[in-house]
Amino acid sequence: MTLFDLTGKVALVTGGNGGIGFGMAKGLAAAGAAIAIAARNRKKSDAAVAALLASGAKAEYVELDVRKEASCHAAVRATVERFGRLDILVNNSGTTVRKQPEKLTAEDWHLVLETNLTGALFCCQAAYTHLVRSGGGKIINIGSMMSMFGAAYAAPYAASKGGIVQLSKSLAIAWAKDNIQVNAILPGWINTDLTKSAREQVPGLNERVLARTPAQRWGDPSDFAGVAVFLAGPGSDFITGTTIVVDGGYSAQA
Ligand code: NDP
Repeated sequence: MTLFDLTGKVALVTGGNGGIGFGMAKGLAAAGAAIAIAARNRKKSDAAVAALLASGAKAEYVELDVRKEASCHAAVRATVERFGRLDILVNNSGTTVRKQPEKLTAEDWHLVLETNLTGALFCCQAAYTHLVRSGGGKIINIGSMMSMFGAAYAAPYAASKGGIVQLSKSLAIAWAKDNIQVNAILPGWINTDLTKSAREQVPGLNERVLARTPAQRWGDPSDFAGVAVFLAGPGSDFITGTTIVVDGGYSAQA
């Protein structure tokens, strides 16, 4: 269906080499987009690219450290050099430091804020002129349940993910004139490397997540393929500056 057809479009997915990012990359590729997998870990990225190529998609690895502004610009440039254009930017790279707030160091704070929030801004800035050149585009930023809620062990993470929502709104307003739509996806609890360590470090987390999630399961990265395609395609052209929660009902439950 044309509303969900991304043939001829080019998408850059930060942190696209695993977890939720790879789930979205696979969805975008299946809808016809060429994919730039942008991350630091070369081996993991090569495996993701190989899997996309094996499925018949166009895909390339581009090196990216979102904590470095120059790297964000270089990754966008490399994507445009390899595929000729840019239409879709998915800001998905993320990290966390789990500590009580009184124990956080400046280094912890900067690591999380720079990776989850500042890097997203740098990538958006780098992408902007290319999206304009394409006649418009789509930016999908990845928030979290912590865009809405807080947690004792996640102050910098919650601050960064709250910031992602406000950043998305501001960019949406600024760039609507350029036909660029900017939205955020807020995942619930999803089974990835990031939450594997949380399950190990936070006692009782697994049980609490299952008890509160009406769908009675953790999410899977494949749960993000559909929403990514929707927000990347013409079906969402009048949707901007908003959030879509993908959480199996977690945040609907008191
Ligand atoms: P993963 O740990 O699987 O993915 C994190 C990704 O971020 C990796 O691909 C990693 O690639 C990339 N990354 C980390 N630091 C950098 C950096 N400095 N530069 C470039 N890329 C970087 O976790 P998830 O798939 O779970 O997380 C993806 C996103 O979803 C994150 O933003 C996370 O906060 C969010 N999220 C996840 C939830 C969950 O339950 N799993 C819930 C809510 C939100 P590499 O190390 O190769 O650079």
